Amino acid sequence: MVKRVYIASSEADAMNTLTLKILFLIGFVSAFAIRSPYQRENKKNTVSVDRKTAQEKILLVLVFIGMVILPLIYVFSPWLRVADYNPVPWVGYLGVLCFGISLWLFWRSHDDLGRNWSPTLEIREGHTLISNGVYQTIRHPMYTAIWLWCAAQALLLPNWIAGLAGLISFAALYIFRIGNEEQMMLEQFGEEYKAYMQRTKRLIPYLF
Ligand code: SAH
Repeated sequence: MVKRVYIASSEADAMNTLTLKILFLIGFVSAFAIRSPYQRENKKNTVSVDRKTAQEKILLVLVFIGMVILPLIYVFSPWLRVADYNPVPWVGYLGVLCFGISLWLFWRSHDDLGRNWSPTLEIREGHTLISNGVYQTIRHPMYTAIWLWCAAQALLLPNWIAGLAGLISFAALYIFRIGNEEQMMLEQFGEEYKAYMQRTKRLIPYLF
């Protein structure tokens, strides 16, 4: 006799944890692949203004733990299992959508900034103010991309620690950095940056 197994349609639709982990890893590796050529170029820059404080360095380490170390521990080991919860069916699709938009914006913002990009707060010799491309309507498209990446991490990893660590650590860096970055840009570019601030929003076009 053939035994039939009926799976409730919502269960069949639901992305299982392994699928979610794989989707997360694809996004994660793609983000590093997008960044790596710009990271190489950045090494050739001569820095003329360096605003990297001890606080900024500590926050960058926290972000590395929250967005790299903890997710990888979750994906490749059972150590964070105590904080697992059952994935919610549709949430995985939303995670993929967030990561997709994030990666596109991450790529466009790196491409528009070019040699002006740096992982910390600094101005290079020959720095120019970019206000075209994805910088036309928002001043911090790369941070928008990173917020979306962190949201995708929370949506794709059904684990309270590994899922939320990105959002929490990046929120801390963003809150401490954003005012300092705009202040640095104002000191460097003066009226030009002031006018740019007046016609743009920080993260979401026309809204915020
Ligand atoms: N906040 C921007 C850039 C992040 S990279 C974004 O989210 O898209 C951080 C560095 O980019 C800063 O050290 C600063 O030197 C540089 N930067 C930020 N905005 C810039 C702009 N509009 N034009 C040129 N360089 C910029």
